[in-house]
Amino acid sequence: MPALIVGNWKMNGTGEAVAEIAEMAGAGMGVGAPSLWIAPPFTLIDRAVIVSAGGVKIGGQDCHAKASGAHTGCVSAAMLADLGANFVIVGHSERRRDNGEGNADVRAKAMAGKAAGLEVILCIGETRDERDAGQTNEVLSTQLAGSLPDDAEALIIAYEPVWAIGTGLVPTLEDVAAAHAHIRARLVACYGPAGHGVRILYGGSVTPANAGDLLQVAEVGGVLVGGASLTAASLLAIAAAA
Ligand code: PEP
Repeated sequence: MPALIVGNWKMNGTGEAVAEIAEMAGAGMGVGAPSLWIAPPFTLIDRAVIVSAGGVKIGGQDCHAKASGAHTGCVSAAMLADLGANFVIVGHSERRRDNGEGNADVRAKAMAGKAAGLEVILCIGETRDERDAGQTNEVLSTQLAGSLPDDAEALIIAYEPVWAIGTGLVPTLEDVAAAHAHIRARLVACYGPAGHGVRILYGGSVTPANAGDLLQVAEVGGVLVGGASLTAASLLAIAAAA
């Protein structure tokens, strides 16, 4: 299965940045090449959909759990789908930190994304303190138990150690393998054989220099990339490494 490379632009980019997406989409990577998905800020989704011309899938970085209603400033999964988005990221650690989102919120958002016909990338990961205390597997299990949607359809998990996001720090390949194996076991325990079909991404300080090694690790089906996804040059270098 070709790797999946997802770029999360976070709160970065104004109009001129969509040229980067057009360049990514025009790269023409060929058969067996990785799939490229980009989650720009909400404000760029409609323009990104147009310039991507299907060559890059476009998604949201979050959605509200409800389809509509009195939720000022929020965007629903149905609204993302209406713009032409194909996927939504839920449970990113920055939203858990900045917006106090817990596992139940993340589960509700995942269900909303699926109901709107989007693929859902559900993020989990331990803090540095939790890793140092030897609690990584326990934390991942708790997050999965509380946030997994009812079925495995259209679901992708992103394992993102919080301490690796935007820091330049990356777990050892052995630690990545151990976390991914644990997540796979939990998915199979939850969904049965369908749990084998859920792609698991690694995220946290992925660069063109380390992507090749990370993508060789068992159960790593792709990468979720923040900073290094902002330019076509950098994202395409990661794709080339894959
Ligand atoms: C992220 O935001 O999901 C992420 C992995 O960021 P970075 O690649 O910058 O560490």
